[in-house]
Amino acid sequence: MATEVQHTLAKAAGFSGTSLHTGEKVTLKLHPAQVDHGIKFKRKDLQDEPTIDAKIDNLKTVERATTIGEGSVRVHTVEHVLAALFAMGVDNAIVEMDANEPPIGDGSAQPYVDVIKRAGVAAQEAPRKLFNVRESMHVEAKTGALLVLLPDETFRISCTQAGPNNRFTQFLSMEVTPAIFEREIAPARTFVYYEEVQSLMDKNLIKGGSLENAIVVRGDAVLSKEPLRFADEFVRHKILDIIGDLALIGHRIRGHVVAVKPGHGANAELARAVAREQTRRDAISVPRTLPPGEGGFDTDEVMQILPHRYPFLMVDRIVGFEGETKCIGMKTVSINEPFFQGHFPGHPVMPGVMQVEAMAQVASILLFKLAKTSSRVGYFMSADEVKFRKPVFPGDTIFIHAELTKARGNRLAKAKCHCVVNDAVVSEGELMFTFLDK
Ligand SMILES: [Zn+2]
Repeated sequence: MATEVQHTLAKAAGFSGTSLHTGEKVTLKLHPAQVDHGIKFKRKDLQDEPTIDAKIDNLKTVERATTIGEGSVRVHTVEHVLAALFAMGVDNAIVEMDANEPPIGDGSAQPYVDVIKRAGVAAQEAPRKLFNVRESMHVEAKTGALLVLLPDETFRISCTQAGPNNRFTQFLSMEVTPAIFEREIAPARTFVYYEEVQSLMDKNLIKGGSLENAIVVRGDAVLSKEPLRFADEFVRHKILDIIGDLALIGHRIRGHVVAVKPGHGANAELARAVAREQTRRDAISVPRTLPPGEGGFDTDEVMQILPHRYPFLMVDRIVGFEGETKCIGMKTVSINEPFFQGHFPGHPVMPGVMQVEAMAQVASILLFKLAKTSSRVGYFMSADEVKFRKPVFPGDTIFIHAELTKARGNRLAKAKCHCVVNDAVVSEGELMFTFLDK
């Protein structure tokens, strides 16, 4: 599969409408943005035109709609425009507005899809930020909402929506692609239960709210200006909201969202959980800068200790030591490694024995530190309990953990080692060394 790249808008485009909460006129304009910019909202109506990152860290409230903010600046009801941008494949954009809320349109994502199509979507030269679901995760809320995230090759949502007393229970499952979103999800309008909005209407809190931008459900009756667009329009709108709220992760999910009675609160909880997991992955998979002093060894220092050279040097650097007996080495496995040519053509996988070699080299560095001399060299004698658990592919960064468990009489040493890629152990083994004078 070709690497997915980031996209932005080909040019700026916008439209005007009414803001839901204040009922005032608002103009929204979408602008292209550079690689890795993400989606940002810009308040054109405020002094200095502040911007707010569409990031889960900036989430403020989830009552009825999703509000984000930074400092004292707020943007309300961001979920529909975010859903449209995200689902139509836009990774980088500026959403400029002259009010604290986008125009509500007809309560669906249709107006935003229209404006994105008018602007056009353009590919950029950087890989897309993807979150691959490796293990299931779930969140539950007091409202009865349950969201489960499962591994999947695509981005998929299966949703069950149920109203008060389980009225209007609807289920729908689909892969989310731009074409499917535009046809099946974008036109689905906001719906509200009369009992829940009555007090807001009485308090004049939804000045722009009308049957033109929401479906009102009263008892078993469905009130709206135009008839239902789909028999199961409600569950479709729930899926729309899930996409919009999960856009706050900033990474595209490769996985299956299974949602039961979802709401903005539970959606945001799942977004937070994914963002936390992504932060954890970033911390362990991005090559770190070396800490100063005794912290680790850079490539030069590694090569002063180990006699191995390309293509047999299997350690790029030592990330750090823990006392005298533990250390972690790092190796970034590139497609240019000579072994990939033959192991295997069209399906490059790093040979397990090369990982054992990497363990032996990292353990040798520990032995060297312990012996404090380079006049004697450690020879790799045996390997026990070797297990290969997961394949290692080009582009993976291996963290090689080594711990000396025995260093007997300056003659023999044992090391317990394991290799980690993306926080999963890919291989392990117990290695034995003997020392010989050079
Ligand atoms: Zn909505």
